[in-house]
Amino acid sequence: MKAAVVREFKAPLRIEDLPKPTPGPGEVVVKIEASGLCHTDIHAAHGDWPVKPKLPLIPGHEGVGIVESVGAGVSTVKEGDRVCIPWLGSACGVCEYCTSGRETLCELQQNTGYSVDGSYAEYARASALYVGKVPAGVDPNDAAPLTCAGVTTYKAVKVAGTRSSDLVAVFGIGGLGHLAVQYGKIAGGTVVAVDLVEDKLELARTLGADYTVNPRQEDPVEAIRKLGGADQAVCVAVSPKAFEQAYRSLRRGGTLAFVALPADNFMQLPIFETVLHGITVVGSIVGTRADLAEVFELHARKRTRVVYDIRKLEQVNESFEEVEKAKVPARLVFTF
Ligand code: NAD
Ligand code: ZN
Ligand code: ZN
Repeated sequence: MKAAVVREFKAPLRIEDLPKPTPGPGEVVVKIEASGLCHTDIHAAHGDWPVKPKLPLIPGHEGVGIVESVGAGVSTVKEGDRVCIPWLGSACGVCEYCTSGRETLCELQQNTGYSVDGSYAEYARASALYVGKVPAGVDPNDAAPLTCAGVTTYKAVKVAGTRSSDLVAVFGIGGLGHLAVQYGKIAGGTVVAVDLVEDKLELARTLGADYTVNPRQEDPVEAIRKLGGADQAVCVAVSPKAFEQAYRSLRRGGTLAFVALPADNFMQLPIFETVLHGITVVGSIVGTRADLAEVFELHARKRTRVVYDIRKLEQVNESFEEVEKAKVPARLVFTF
């Protein structure tokens, strides 16, 4: 099968012909129809984070396709089902996190396209208990970005606690951000979208953002404070500077949700203001299988719109560059 492979950090990915995987006990093999390009895949290929991925690596954790074969003991999905393979490739199922609806915190988790091979390939192997079922009413090309960008921002808005009277600022209108804007609106909030690229702000307006701010033209902190300050800020921009601006744009009692994972791992966080203003800072990591099911349900009910361009897997290196330069509408999706 054809796959895009990382053999060395920061080197271009190679398109290789590899043996097709076979399912072990509890596993399925999925014939991939669509696989979204998450900025995390770029971080993985660059070795950007304190915990490194395995090498060689097939990236990709927004894989959608049809179950082609199932291993021994699989009873929850069958051949022919359309499923998605998310970042949470598997978890132990029995620890205190797994049994309390916090499986994304499991210490024994495997991550698709990071600690195990992912979906930048014609076929991918996955744990049957951790694939998501894609409802009939959801197009596979839409399902791919929803599998990470969707569930992550849906969860982040939940964790941030947006309610109908709130002002929610979304920093970074990329793959994640364009969905965060929509979940902020669905939660009933008034949404401010912040991005350095004018096209992204235009997109945010068409997706329901009430205000847009371009930090190249005006100070986002001042602009958002003029609106009363943000009750929640969701930072999905790959830049510590954006995290600091998001923090300072909060009103008293506000919450900053950390979502993006820039290679530069640190920001300045003032203690005094955090205490006196009663600020909450919270990390939000993807979402659970239950969150993912809710994301698909909302999409099947036509409450969300996924914006993407199609690419071929052979274009993977140019596609990484396009995303890094923020030259894509929102998401890129490889189709097979
Ligand atoms: P993306 O490249 O599609 O989007 C990033 C956007 O941020 C772009 O539109 C860019 O123009 C904008 N941006 C960059 N610098 C900015 C700044 N200073 N101010 C405002 N906007 C700025 O990336 P993505 O796929 O949406 O992923 C975003 C980040 O989220 C990545 O770091 C990724 O690894 C991380 N991520 C985290 C989780 C999680 O569970 N926490 C899940 C998925 C992705
Ligand atoms: Zn992702
Ligand atoms: Zn566990």
